[in-house]
Amino acid sequence: MLLKDRLVNTFIELVRIPSPSLKERDFADYLKSKLESLGLRVFEDSSGKALGGNSGNIYAFLEGSGEPILISAHMDTVSPGENINPKIQGEYIVSDGTTILGSDDKAAIAGILEALQAIKEENIIGRNVEFLFSIGEENGLLGAKNLDVSLIRAKEGYVLDGEGDIGTLILKAPTHDRFYLYIYGKASHAGTSPEKGLNAILLSSEFLLSLPWGRINDITTANIGIVKGGRATNIVPDEVYLEGEFRSLEKENIETLWKNFVEELSKIELKGGKYELKKENLYKGFSISKEEQVVKRIVSVLEKMGKNIRTIHTMGGSDANILNSYGIKTINVGIGMENPHSKEERIKIESLYETAVLIYNLIKGE
Ligand SMILES: [Zn+2]
Repeated sequence: MLLKDRLVNTFIELVRIPSPSLKERDFADYLKSKLESLGLRVFEDSSGKALGGNSGNIYAFLEGSGEPILISAHMDTVSPGENINPKIQGEYIVSDGTTILGSDDKAAIAGILEALQAIKEENIIGRNVEFLFSIGEENGLLGAKNLDVSLIRAKEGYVLDGEGDIGTLILKAPTHDRFYLYIYGKASHAGTSPEKGLNAILLSSEFLLSLPWGRINDITTANIGIVKGGRATNIVPDEVYLEGEFRSLEKENIETLWKNFVEELSKIELKGGKYELKKENLYKGFSISKEEQVVKRIVSVLEKMGKNIRTIHTMGGSDANILNSYGIKTINVGIGMENPHSKEERIKIESLYETAVLIYNLIKGE
């Protein structure tokens, strides 16, 4: 039986163990011993080493029957996440206001542990379930990007890391690209020989103003986020550095943005300037239809729980983007966290409980 008090105690215990990105060691050790005591086969990969962290991703395997499903949550939290002092305030659990709470994503992990505890006590043989607890999610989905995919057999997965009440299902997320760009002009004395210079700040301005920014359409955004350049008022600046990003739910839109970007960039050379461009794909988008089994399965559980289903898209990334890129059809599931990444982060005790009920029923597989 799922016990609300035990679940709340587990949650409080979990958030008290600090786990900043790539420093998840203490938390991972605690989680591993809990999972082992619940009878799961547990494995840690070497992604931590590759990433300069002190813990790898944790995998845990629950024996059951049928095709396995994947359930995933991340172990790391954003800062300030040390010395978290959670407290119960009415129907909520909150921090003391000096730190985050850590319900992102430990509410999911507490729910998983409570569900596994109940499954064990009731001697239930449910589905084959593979659990993945990732590192470094908050600083670029690093754990998921470096996981050992050969350990995962599941073709369908649930990342429990979404905002929104229980019943919220994120079925679409964007492709996210970033650019790092140097624009070079020519330095010269601003007072005595400005005509010998080529002003990189003006080149950059013309370039930026030739392109659309902000909301490009309802599924596409573009942003110039960092501009650095110039050395002194009496020098014609010869170098400007720019960083920005594109996001879209359709990769064709991103391709169009890149095409225009490079086209406009080449005009800088016609003006005598130079540039150096580095493109990076942070993650690829995904789009899962409501007709897919991975959606139908969780919808049927949520409906039995009496929850309203809300299928949405997001313009942010999660481990679900990376898992989809490995061919594991994965959606991101709302677990009721509120105001994550802030000191006002909080979660309803009822949301914690419903998350546990959801996981319990997914494992039970009826
Ligand atoms: Zn998260």
